[in-house]
Amino acid sequence: MYFDSHVHLDDSIFDPDRDTVINTALSENVKLMLNIGLNTQSSIESVKLSEKYDFIYASCGFHPHDANKMKEEDYIAIRELLLHKKAIAVGEVGLDYYRNLSPVDKQREVFARFIRLAREVKKPLIIHSREAFDDTLKIMEQESAEEIGGVAHCFSGDIEIAKKFMDMNFHISFAGQITFKKNENINKLISYIPMERILIETDCPYLSPQPERGKRNMPAYVKYTAQKLAEIKMLSSDDIGRITALNAIKLFNLPIQQKPVIVYPIRDSLYLNITNQCSNSCFFCLRYKQDFLQGHLLKFNIEPTVDDLLKEIKPVISKYREVVFCGYGEPLLRIEVVLKIAAALKNMGVKHVRIDTNVHGYLMSIENIVPKFSGIIDEICISLNALDKNKYMQVCCPEFGEGTFDEVMKFILECKKVIPKVVITFVELPDLDLDACRKLAQNLGVAYKIRKFDVVG
Ligand code: SF4
Repeated sequence: MYFDSHVHLDDSIFDPDRDTVINTALSENVKLMLNIGLNTQSSIESVKLSEKYDFIYASCGFHPHDANKMKEEDYIAIRELLLHKKAIAVGEVGLDYYRNLSPVDKQREVFARFIRLAREVKKPLIIHSREAFDDTLKIMEQESAEEIGGVAHCFSGDIEIAKKFMDMNFHISFAGQITFKKNENINKLISYIPMERILIETDCPYLSPQPERGKRNMPAYVKYTAQKLAEIKMLSSDDIGRITALNAIKLFNLPIQQKPVIVYPIRDSLYLNITNQCSNSCFFCLRYKQDFLQGHLLKFNIEPTVDDLLKEIKPVISKYREVVFCGYGEPLLRIEVVLKIAAALKNMGVKHVRIDTNVHGYLMSIENIVPKFSGIIDEICISLNALDKNKYMQVCCPEFGEGTFDEVMKFILECKKVIPKVVITFVELPDLDLDACRKLAQNLGVAYKIRKFDVVG
């Protein structure tokens, strides 16, 4: 599903067919929308829309274009509106030196005042900043905007500016302009920003994306922005929708209604979450920070049985290119489940079955389990994360103690005998010697992969 985090559905351009536009959005899987207030009247309209539709929320604020029109009674009215339970954010507020429709001093004064208001009502900020990043960030810092956080809407800055916003606890929101002609800088910027900091929006009725450029924009078109992000992040549009919706839900303090998953898709792979236990305590492990991975809730209380897993796998398996044993822990700690499911997958005709592992389940087993992988496991990705035993102890803190690294190395050589593809993986820690990783893989005769911090297992 998509969460269009910035819409202006109260705009009079939607008067003839507002309900149709909203229903079209729902049919295109836009299940949540945030209608943005530009001044007192549109903040009132935003709240009205949020009262009419369960899935529309409101934000209330004063746009920098109108800053010089803001009177004390406007501020009081917006403050009052922000007490409404469906008014979840303050904005859009900020600075616009591109059109400069209000005097700069007035823009700054109103912006600073609304940051203070956001802190007072404890609701995040929706920030509009155009050709005014230095002053925007300066005022945010002076007014401690970091305390409340929010989102830089329709972001048009570079990596350096994005970093400054993120350092201040802000998300970055992308609109349809990222779909406009090929733009290397946008690709670099989007690649740089972690998925958990990205929101998507249409800013409708403005900024229609390709291929609808020139027409009136509407929430249903948020899918084009998602498609572009998916292309750059090498994910699917569904992944982008799910992850950015969860980001927005968390940012705006809405209730999270997800249930834990044992079978979940990312791109064209189906992942199996078979355990939350792990025998390592890698300091970078996401499990210490959050219960979610790529928008899926992976933390559960009861481990699934083979039957639980097969019940969920069978109806969807034909849609996926591969199945991956991964989860939020170490899958080989449940080796019997892995072997049974892998055999069942092969009976279903699944071509590619992979295990992402730290190998330790192997250390617990009295017999050599590797021959049992023959014919049912096509690829194994072994998290090594270190080039020697001392570093391994430091980074992974394995329960099995100092001998673990040597045992992992032996396992890699065993796997080569029966598994067509063996990969060793390293999380990209700052002091990682990439050349030494390549050489180690070469010596072992296996492939290697460098993973970003946001990957577990
Ligand atoms: S990163 Fe992987 S191996 Fe390390 S503690 Fe987390 S789940 Fe275990």
